[in-house]
Amino acid sequence: MSSPPLSISVAIIGGGLAGLMTAIGLSRAGHQVTVLEKSPVLGQIGAGIKMPPNATKIFKAWGLLEQLKGLSELPESATLRSYRGEELMRLDLRETMESKYDSPFLSVHRVDLHHLLAKTAEIEGAQTRLGVETLNISYDSDGHSGPIVELADGEHIHADLVLGADGERSFTRGILLNEGNILRDSGEHVYRVTVPIQEILDTADQGLHQLVNPPQINLWIGPGGNALTYRLKREQLFNIVLMQQHGRESEAPLAPQIISKNLVAQEFDKGWDPNFRKILDLTSTCTRWTLLESDIAPHWVDGKGQVALIGDAAHAMGPYAGQGAALAFEDAAVLSVLLARMTSLKQLPDVLTIYESIRTPRVRKMKQVTKDIRKKHSIPTGPRQEERDRQLREHSPLPGSAHFLADPVLQPWMFSYNALEEAEEAWSTFLRGEYPGTCGTWKLGRDGSL
Ligand SMILES: Cc1cc2nc3c(=O)[nH]c(=O)nc-3n(C[C@H](O)[C@H](O)[C@H](O)COP(=O)(O)OP(=O)(O)OC[C@H]3O[C@@H](n4cnc5c(N)ncnc54)[C@H](O)[C@@H]3O)c2cc1C
Repeated sequence: MSSPPLSISVAIIGGGLAGLMTAIGLSRAGHQVTVLEKSPVLGQIGAGIKMPPNATKIFKAWGLLEQLKGLSELPESATLRSYRGEELMRLDLRETMESKYDSPFLSVHRVDLHHLLAKTAEIEGAQTRLGVETLNISYDSDGHSGPIVELADGEHIHADLVLGADGERSFTRGILLNEGNILRDSGEHVYRVTVPIQEILDTADQGLHQLVNPPQINLWIGPGGNALTYRLKREQLFNIVLMQQHGRESEAPLAPQIISKNLVAQEFDKGWDPNFRKILDLTSTCTRWTLLESDIAPHWVDGKGQVALIGDAAHAMGPYAGQGAALAFEDAAVLSVLLARMTSLKQLPDVLTIYESIRTPRVRKMKQVTKDIRKKHSIPTGPRQEERDRQLREHSPLPGSAHFLADPVLQPWMFSYNALEEAEEAWSTFLRGEYPGTCGTWKLGRDGSL
């Protein structure tokens, strides 16, 4: 007779994309999951998010891809342009991604994605508690050997495993690593603008229509900043994300602040593509904030093997590669596979060791990729920028290309990655007693005995 699956209690601090995706995966694996979110309302502010194939293939494996597609746009192409508007290189996305990576490249409104994850987590049996802020994590308690989450209202939640999914300003990371504030000004402002697509179509300007129809991604790169646009299905919005290097001191707050479109027009004025500026002119307001940066957490797991970091709490990175949330989904996939295979609670420290050792090399490389893209896109006007643009115009994509989505080396590294398969392979290695850094708990039976 087969034994029932092992079921442990998991408290996830933070109901963002990382926390909710992990709640889905762990509930599917039979664990009792509670998500603790400090905000009284679930649903992220902000507009769009791009979902590359390494992310969508996890949705596919968990039977969520059709629902995600129903909420998403399927961009046909990704075009890199000079900030003046000249087309430098176009990559076919729709055909390439499906045929090469067996999963699509999508764009979706964050609110829709959040709702899909929250609804699925609930269906899978996870409990989500809103308006509960975690203030501390401790270990000592009468007879309880696991960690305890202490909430702002004084309630104590006992769990076998605590996951810090509390974002780039992670309080869990501060406790785990005994760190103070680790966030720095990245030197850039981010602007988020949305324009109803119908307003663009009402202009009868073919130049503008071509940026909207068919669905596509456009990226303009310029000396001090860049601009990204793509369509969103929700409310038929045209999503615009702008990045602009600021002077010595940032003028923008850390939280998004509403500013007038005149301010944006001033920043993206000198020499920018007239079509792009016409679209900016159609918005009434936009938000702006200071982009922060931090280093990847040097450790993701506590000394006892009972508390771990996931998502931005472990590895926030700039948005240039559009992979931050995708990496969080990969974290969720890896943890879900490992915790589904675990047969004894005593294996938990080994599971978390394997999780961290699978994830850190990929995340470190992605962070470097992100920095490289930023550098290539912000080359000052001059001979190096002219040569970059000539190569983009005259060659098919080269390794190291500024059109990073078309880079023949980087593209398969980013998109063919399968977090679920990597975790399965790691677990097999562990079961053979060959996984470095583990404590030999592969020998344990379901009841924890040898
Ligand atoms: C401009 C921009 C564009 C981006 N575009 C893309 C993209 O196209 N594709 C992509 O993959 N990624 C993108 N990213 C990155 C992506 O947004 C993040 O990586 C992702 O949202 C991180 O999710 P998270 O759940 O780890 O953190 P968050 O989304 O920050 O969630 C953390 C949650 O924890 C809660 N919390 C915090 N502290 C506590 C506490 N003490 N108690 C309880 N709850 C708490 C917060 O309220 C929040 O809900 C972009 C980022 C930016 C800035």
